[in-house]
Amino acid sequence: MHPTRRLLLHHLVFRAASIAPEETVVSLTPEGSCEHSWREVGQRARRLAGGLAGLGLGEGDAVATLAFNDHRHLDAYLAVPCLGARLHPVNTRWSDDEIVPVLAHTRDRILMVDGGLADRVGPILRRCPWIEHVVSMGPWAGGDVSTIDHDDLVGDSVPVEGWPELEETAGMALCSTSGTTGGPKTVEYTHRSTCLQTMALGLTDCMRLSGGDTVLAIVPMFHAMGWCLPYATAMLGSRLVLPHRDLDPMRILDVISEHRVTTAAAVPTIWNGVLAALDSEPGRWDVSCLDRIVSGGAAPTPAMIRGFRDRHDIEVIHSWGMTEINPVGTMSPAVTTREEAAMSPEARIDHQTVAGRPLPGLSLEIEDDEGRPVPHDGSETGRLLVSGWWVAPGYLHDHPDAARFRPDGRLDTGDVASIDDRGRMAIRDREKDLIKSGGEWISSLDLERAIGDLPAVASVAVIARPDERWGERPVAMVVLREGASLSIEELRSELSGSFQSWQLPDDLREIERMPLTSTGKIDKKTLRAGLGS
Ligand code: ADP
Repeated sequence: MHPTRRLLLHHLVFRAASIAPEETVVSLTPEGSCEHSWREVGQRARRLAGGLAGLGLGEGDAVATLAFNDHRHLDAYLAVPCLGARLHPVNTRWSDDEIVPVLAHTRDRILMVDGGLADRVGPILRRCPWIEHVVSMGPWAGGDVSTIDHDDLVGDSVPVEGWPELEETAGMALCSTSGTTGGPKTVEYTHRSTCLQTMALGLTDCMRLSGGDTVLAIVPMFHAMGWCLPYATAMLGSRLVLPHRDLDPMRILDVISEHRVTTAAAVPTIWNGVLAALDSEPGRWDVSCLDRIVSGGAAPTPAMIRGFRDRHDIEVIHSWGMTEINPVGTMSPAVTTREEAAMSPEARIDHQTVAGRPLPGLSLEIEDDEGRPVPHDGSETGRLLVSGWWVAPGYLHDHPDAARFRPDGRLDTGDVASIDDRGRMAIRDREKDLIKSGGEWISSLDLERAIGDLPAVASVAVIARPDERWGERPVAMVVLREGASLSIEELRSELSGSFQSWQLPDDLREIERMPLTSTGKIDKKTLRAGLGS
């Protein structure tokens, strides 16, 4: 295949520099905010690539980042893959004991680190002697480690003019995700998979992204390639706002109203916080600019979707994905077909609570424990299998979950789902979160959706408690709204119309704060440990 026909990232991500050269990327770093036009972003990437090549970085090499969402990380997002090397954004919230084994697998030659994390570098370097250079991103307050300054590399290096014409199946990134057992897992994204994912994000019935949008990328660039949003905006010429590390809901609202953000993407825990702040101080923030938000990575509640729509006129687009699939699998905008346009407002909330249809190029199936296909009737559930254009072929190293990648190209996601006769997939649970009571399965997610809808509840997680008689019983761990109260009897009576009584929790524990994982999702492992289960 002629190189010009290959799916290579450099054919895509410098498009903004040519179609919207004056449009800007706004970077809100602790040292102050700055703006760069997409033309400048393109030039910065070429110079950073020149600098990294000067350090000896070549095709196939890996460059790890420990960094937040800012213009310097964006430089690396463009420069490293286009140069033929692989970018490896590492979760900054992980401990050294989690990070070091990951770097031991990927053998990154260069480590690029946000200045605010300078004190983390020494201990990591001592355990990772294969790292040859540390690049400091932003003001650096870190002890005895010798570093090369990112801004000097960008300022002083000779820009790369032509990019290498790689095979489209060449790796462009390494993404590591936390595993609950067996340690972190790493997959490789290729130029081909990321180009296709990015093109799909640009579809109208996905996020309705366009060059007219101002996109706030809240989802960390160290998690699942930032859902490829940096690439989608670099393809379309949208304005991109990068909020760095402080993701407090009030600050997010300040940024949205100040920068007139039209769309943003984050996990539901962040959006719940944003909704609560908006509701608690009506009129403080002008969010009339915000047209739609993407909520992905965990299940949103109908109450959240309804709250944004009915009280603030903001559409929630529900998305499902996972690191192993580059990472977006489905999107559920309020309306994509003529049939959906005719739905009643309440039916539309149910429709948006469902994770949605696979993006073009992906297929979803469900199967029972014997491997038989489960019908797509919207109610029967089964293990969710995904296959298609950007599903990774496997992990880079041995892992107990490796067998989830089947030889026929299908990935067993570990999720339990139903699919309806319009191809809409609803996540019903994670396999490991299902509760088995008296031999019957109880979906923690169905209970969480219903309990999360109760006005007294700010956030909820339902987990299993070991039970001598039934095997397991559901426990509702609840954070209540200020001044609200809720007893287990009230909870059971509120839910009795939608669940059988054996499915309902018989234990409610009020907690002050919901523990969160390093990616901002509810941390059920910690909750279970607290219960001794
Ligand atoms: P981690 O394992 O660190 O959470 P991932 O982001 O890769 O990393 O997690 C993917 C998993 O997150 C999915 O397999 C699924 O269980 C869950 N998930 C993602 N999106 C949704 C969603 N919309 N609804 C329910 N669960 C979701």
